[in-house]
Amino acid sequence: MKYCLAFLFTFALYGAEYSTYTRCSDPRTGEQVRVVNDSRLDNIGYAQMGPRGYAVIVWNPTFANALHPLLASFFAHHECAHIQLFHSLRVNKPYWTQSKEQEADCDAVGAMIDKGILSGYDDYQFEILKRELSKLQPHSTHTHYAGYIRAYNLTNYCPFN
Ligand SMILES: [Zn+2]
Repeated sequence: MKYCLAFLFTFALYGAEYSTYTRCSDPRTGEQVRVVNDSRLDNIGYAQMGPRGYAVIVWNPTFANALHPLLASFFAHHECAHIQLFHSLRVNKPYWTQSKEQEADCDAVGAMIDKGILSGYDDYQFEILKRELSKLQPHSTHTHYAGYIRAYNLTNYCPFN
């Protein structure tokens, strides 16, 4: 048991921090967005943006650690995209819709291509990312499409650069 806890602790500390994957800046201030860890979430995390320059990404390092690194990186860029695209600002209610999630997915892939994490839409890594995304969330909800639909949309919906 002690061994197990040490193992988990190590992973929580060094395994999958948000900063492992990317940095995110607030487009209103240029300042780095604060990241708060919360391993109790049943998902990867979310982005919040208050009206007065307050922006935070709540991130689940334990969840991220269980994912393929490319998928964890995709989600890190996805949460940042919600900040970059002002999705979570109060005036932009409803905050979470399938179309906003779709936009964030496309923006995330665009950012990963810009940084060279993916070399393009026909990249081998991109195929791995889609494969891993397809494994998650078998059914669509009112905010998120099912993983396999999100994966399909990455090539068939996102604008090509
Ligand atoms: Zn999202």
